Amino acid sequence: MVERHVEARGVHDAAVLEAMRTVPREAFLPDHFAEFAYEDTPLPIEEGQTISQPYIVAAMVEALKPGPHDRVLEIGTGSGYAAAVLGEIVEEVYTIERHRVLADQAERRLRELDYRNVHVLCGDGTLGWPEHAPFDGILVSAGGPEVPRVLIEQLAPRGRIVIPVGPDLRDQRLLRITKQPDGNTNTEDLGGVRFVPLIGAGGFAEAAEAPTVERISRPEPAIAHLIREACQPISDIGEVELGPLLEQIGDARVVLLGEATHGTSEFYRMRARITTELVMRRGFNIVAIEGDWPDAAQVDHHVRALEFRVREDSTFARFPTWMWRNREIGELITWLKSHNELIKDPQRRVGFHGLDLYSLYKSLDAVLHYLNDVDPKAAQIAKERYACLSPWEQNPALYGRAALSRGYAECERPVVAVLADLLKRRLDYARADGDRFFDATSNAHLVAAAEEYYRVMYYGGPHSWNLRDQHMFDTLERLLAFRGPDAKAVVWAHNSHVGDARATEMGAARGEHNIGQLCRQSFGDAAFSIGFGTHTGTVAAATDWDGPMQIKKVRPSHPSSYERLCHDAGVPAFLLALRYPARDAVREELASPRLERAIGVIYRPETELQSHYFQAALPWQFDAYVWFDETRAVDALEPEAAHAEIPHVYR
Ligand code: SAM
Repeated sequence: MVERHVEARGVHDAAVLEAMRTVPREAFLPDHFAEFAYEDTPLPIEEGQTISQPYIVAAMVEALKPGPHDRVLEIGTGSGYAAAVLGEIVEEVYTIERHRVLADQAERRLRELDYRNVHVLCGDGTLGWPEHAPFDGILVSAGGPEVPRVLIEQLAPRGRIVIPVGPDLRDQRLLRITKQPDGNTNTEDLGGVRFVPLIGAGGFAEAAEAPTVERISRPEPAIAHLIREACQPISDIGEVELGPLLEQIGDARVVLLGEATHGTSEFYRMRARITTELVMRRGFNIVAIEGDWPDAAQVDHHVRALEFRVREDSTFARFPTWMWRNREIGELITWLKSHNELIKDPQRRVGFHGLDLYSLYKSLDAVLHYLNDVDPKAAQIAKERYACLSPWEQNPALYGRAALSRGYAECERPVVAVLADLLKRRLDYARADGDRFFDATSNAHLVAAAEEYYRVMYYGGPHSWNLRDQHMFDTLERLLAFRGPDAKAVVWAHNSHVGDARATEMGAARGEHNIGQLCRQSFGDAAFSIGFGTHTGTVAAATDWDGPMQIKKVRPSHPSSYERLCHDAGVPAFLLALRYPARDAVREELASPRLERAIGVIYRPETELQSHYFQAALPWQFDAYVWFDETRAVDALEPEAAHAEIPHVYR
């Protein structure tokens, strides 16, 4: 741990590294977490608090510049681990913890490990410990709204305070304040961090502690019990009775099926089961996925046995391949094909489509290919217009920068012109083949949206996310319009796309919207969104973008999360109605915001809280929720299949 997580990330102070090697972290953890002791992650301890991530402890202690003769005050003893690390380095450590249970426990542990130079006090650390002041260093292990004045007063000349400061738990900076001999201070910003709140006279008010928990009227076990009583258990994905769910869905035109990861088998299988029911019992005829249009078009061609020729090309071969190249999707495609074969009316056959916009160059090729067949002169003009994008094929993200540095988004007008020309000739072209024309215009729409996407991506902020989800929603609307007034669509995308963004941090704090929100705003009750969740198990994900797929362990869910409540319900898998709950109290009790986990194609368990949890209000986000307590990674198809054409992949 010290080598891989602490030293490798830039902590070099020999005394700190030696102390980290010496203190047995497992001795400061509840027994059931001992096996995670040398993972570089914060872990839950009693009283809803955490033991800090080892790297953070090391980095903070190093930032404090501790010397062997120093007297140091620590605020937020927690488990006592950081106090022990300090105890290895400095002469005396005074540590204060506001929770009696934690203070007593830490004192006992430190005594057992024979840290005679570490002294524990139960009280409000923001008042300092005047009897032992002044201190050469003060380390604050909880985040406050500002630096408590009293602490600066209790600092010796040249003394340092290291403290996380910020207006709320998600926006803290780690500061080092150094007291000059003349009493003035000098402040350095060491970077962004996220700590539990510092509660006390010089910190947040008591009510700020665990903000997601204290607003909840019932104790956690009672809510878990309520879930247990109100849910419909799932004993077998293939067998579970979906009548009650279909009843809730009613006449919805759009059903959105989420997933809490991009690589969990149960999510795929349950979504396939719901999809087949919707097709058979509710006349759904569109499956629209968070995947690329041209790739899905090949599958569509295969399952609907369309007559026009599609380009033979590798399908779903770009990162992350496992998202659509997997056995679970293969089974759905086989089912769709055989289902469609029995349907005479082509309009009622179920189509398979991609909503995403990452296929700029494939789509551009598809437009040219189409025009070449139907109108070679127009193809030549389109080719010239699209040429402006060609230098960026290897790295379209660079296009954003280039467009900016030349002061004008050069490709915008020509790509929109291609689309406009296509639409103008709608009547001439479409007569020959509606499906094929629709495919070409969808690709042209995609090129126009992607051009804009890469340009705004360069600026960061919510714009690129919004543009992408807007494009997905627009594509969905076009699909529904194209298939006629009776068309009904099932959307497969991540929870973060299908749950209403207004009920989550992404909408409330970052101004992002998503397909789920746009569908609700547009279709009202005729849109029905289902979220999915898991407690633990394995998942297919990468560590970095474009990195290899790995089967990773999903950490047990966070104690303050919706997932933990579902886990505590003690039902291995279930369906929970949220729009029309079996008991009204379910909605009320779950409405107070809590943490929710989102694992994407990247999973970083070592920084899980920071990287994968966000605040949400579940019953506002989804109309129903599907739970699998323990899940396994999706069954990705072997790499050798990765270059084959899609229908072959799935056969
Ligand atoms: N250093 C600890 C460790 O490694 O185990 C981690 C500490 S945890 C991140 C922060 C702790 O600060 C919690 O135990 C919390 O109860 C405590 N705390 C918050 N406000 C406090 C205050 N005003 N005085 C003392 N302790 C406080």
